[in-house]
Amino acid sequence: MSKHFSNGLPKRVPLFIEGEWTNSEASQWIPVTNPATQEVICEAPCATEAEVERAVASAKKTFESWKDVAVPVRARIMLQYQHLLKEHHDEIATILAKETGKTFDDAKGDVWRGIEVVEHACNIASLMMGETVENVARTIDCYSYTQPLGVCMGITPFNFPAMIPLWMFPLAIAAGNTFILKPSEQDPLTPTRLVELFEQAGAPKGVLQVIHGGKEQVNQLLNHPEVKAVSFVGSVPVGEHVYRTATQNLKRAQCFAGAKNHMVVMPDANKQQVINNLVGAGFGAAGQRCMAISVAVMVGESKEWIDDLKAAASSIRPGAWDDKDAAYGPQISPQARDKVLAFIEKGKQEGANCILDGSNCVVEGFPDGNWVGPTIFTDVTPEMEIYQKEIFGPVMCIMTVDTLEEAIALINNCPFGNGTSIFTASGACARKYQHEILVGQVGINVPVPVPLPFFSFTGWRGSFFGDQHAYGKQAVRFYTETKTVTARWFDDDIPGGPNMTITLK
Ligand code: NAD
Repeated sequence: MSKHFSNGLPKRVPLFIEGEWTNSEASQWIPVTNPATQEVICEAPCATEAEVERAVASAKKTFESWKDVAVPVRARIMLQYQHLLKEHHDEIATILAKETGKTFDDAKGDVWRGIEVVEHACNIASLMMGETVENVARTIDCYSYTQPLGVCMGITPFNFPAMIPLWMFPLAIAAGNTFILKPSEQDPLTPTRLVELFEQAGAPKGVLQVIHGGKEQVNQLLNHPEVKAVSFVGSVPVGEHVYRTATQNLKRAQCFAGAKNHMVVMPDANKQQVINNLVGAGFGAAGQRCMAISVAVMVGESKEWIDDLKAAASSIRPGAWDDKDAAYGPQISPQARDKVLAFIEKGKQEGANCILDGSNCVVEGFPDGNWVGPTIFTDVTPEMEIYQKEIFGPVMCIMTVDTLEEAIALINNCPFGNGTSIFTASGACARKYQHEILVGQVGINVPVPVPLPFFSFTGWRGSFFGDQHAYGKQAVRFYTETKTVTARWFDDDIPGGPNMTITLK
C-alpha cells in the first residue's frame, strides 16, 4: 500500500533522505498545477541546504556498503522492481497523467519506456563484465573490472517524469553507485511513486535519495565534492550550465538537451503513412517530446501532400488526460503555452505562412487549460527564429527542397542533432541518409527512433554535451570506472635479475 497515495494525491511532496520520507523544512514551496484546469494539486519543496547536505552524506555512507553487495543481489532488486512497476503500471500512469496532462495512453507509454530500462538493469552482471587477455607477456595475464564511482546524481525534466528518472537511477544503482534524484518541480508526484516502489522492491535505505527544488538545489549538488557524476536531461541553456559547472568541478557529466527534429519525406514514400506519422510525431504529447518531429522537409513532389497533412492535423484536438477522444493534452504551464503562442506570432511576423493556426484553441469544459491546437507553417526558411529555436509545442514547420542532398545539407547545418527520420521506398536513399546525416538517432520509415535500452539514447551536437550516453552499455560505462589488472604468479623458470626497461618480460 502506498504511503503517500492511498488517500489520493499528497498535498505536500516529501523528500526521501536516509531511506526515510521526510517533510521538508523548506521556506519556499512550488505549486504543482493541473495543466488542464490550473487547480493546485500539491506543492513541492525547495529543499534546504542542510537537507541536501544530509542526502549527500547518506548517499556517501551507503555507498561504502552498497558497492560490496553481490552483483546478483543488486540485479534481483531490479527484477523485483520491474515486476512491481508492471503491476502498478496503470496506477503510476494515472498519477502521471494528472500532473502532466498527458493522455492516459501516452502516460502509460511514458511509464513503459522506463520499465524497459529497469529490465535492462536486471542484466547488470553481463553489462559490467570486463575484458581478459591471457599471456600478454610470458606468464602474465591482463584483465579488467568495472567498479562504481560513488555518489551520482540525476536532474530530470518535466516531459517524461517516469521514463527519464528510470533512464538514470536503476542502472547507476545496479552498477553499485548510490544516487540523488532531483526531479522536475513541475511534476514531482510520479517520481515519488516510482521511488516508493523501489523501496518496496527491497532497495536498502540510502541507495537512493530524492531532493526537490530547482536551480539552488542543483547548484549545491553540482558544487559538492562528494558527487562524482551528473546526468541531466532538460533545456539547452540549463544543460550548458550543468555541463560547464559539473566539468569545471572535475566531475563526469552527460547532459541531454533540446532538439529540432526533421522528417525527410521522399516522393516515393507511402503518402498515407507519411501523413499519419507526421501527425503523431509532430503533435503527440502537445509537441513536448525531445524527439518530436518539428520540421517536415518535403522533397520534390511530396510537397503536394501538404493540403492532406493540414486536413489530417485539423481533425485532431487536445483535451484532458481522461478524454478518450483527445489526441494530446495541454502544455505543461501557462508560461510554456505563452512561449509557444509567442513563437506562432513570431513565425507570422517573420513571413512564414501559418496554414493551420492553433493559437486560439478552446477545449469545452476546460476554459483555463494551457491549450494550443495543431499549428502548421509553410514557407519556413532556415534564418527564421521558428526554425532556429526549439518551440516545444504542437507547431510544425514545413520546408521544401528539390533533392535529398539539399535536405541533408539543411539538417546538417541545424545546430541540433537529437533525432531525425526519412520516409522513402528506396533503400539507396535510406542508406545515403543514414550514412551522411549528422544526427545521433535516425529512423527509416520510423518517425520517432528512440532506441530500446540495449542500445543507447545517442543525441549529437547541440542536443547533447558529454560522450557516454543514456542507458545501454554506454550508461554502465558512464557510471563506472575501469580497473585493469596485470598479474603474474611466479614459477621457477622466470629469468632472474631486475628488469630495467618498461617492457613486460
Ligand atoms: P528545464 O531545463 O527547464 O529543467 C530541467 C531540470 O533542470 C529541472 O529539474 C529543473 O528543475 C532544473 N533546472 C531548471 N533551471 C535550472 C537552473 N538554472 N540551474 C539548474 N537546474 C535548473 O527543462 P524542462 O522544461 O523541464 O524540459 C524540457 C526540455 O528538456 C526541452 O528542451 C526538451 O527538449 C528537453 N529534453 C531533452 C531530452 C533529450 O534526451 N535530449 C529528453 C527530454 C527532454
